[in-house]
Amino acid sequence: MSDIIRFEVKDKICMKKKHPCGTDIFTVARCGSDVRIICDGCGRDLTLSRESLEKMIKKVIVTSK
Ligand SMILES: [Zn+2]
Repeated sequence: MSDIIRFEVKDKICMKKKHPCGTDIFTVARCGSDVRIICDGCGRDLTLSRESLEKMIKKVIVTSK
C-alpha cells in the first residue's frame, strides 16, 4: 500500500490520531516538503514533513476544487 496521497492547500485531512483537543480534522495551510496543517478544533498549527504526515492521514477531504 504505497499509494501517493494527494492533497492541496485548503483541503481537510482526517488524521488517524486525534489532536489533544479531540478533533481529528485538520486544514492544510501550506504544502511542500514540509506541510503545515491547522487543527479545525483549536486552531493550533503543526508543521510536519510530508512523509511523516502521510503516515498519519486516514482520509483527505478535498475542498480545493
Ligand atoms: Zn486541536
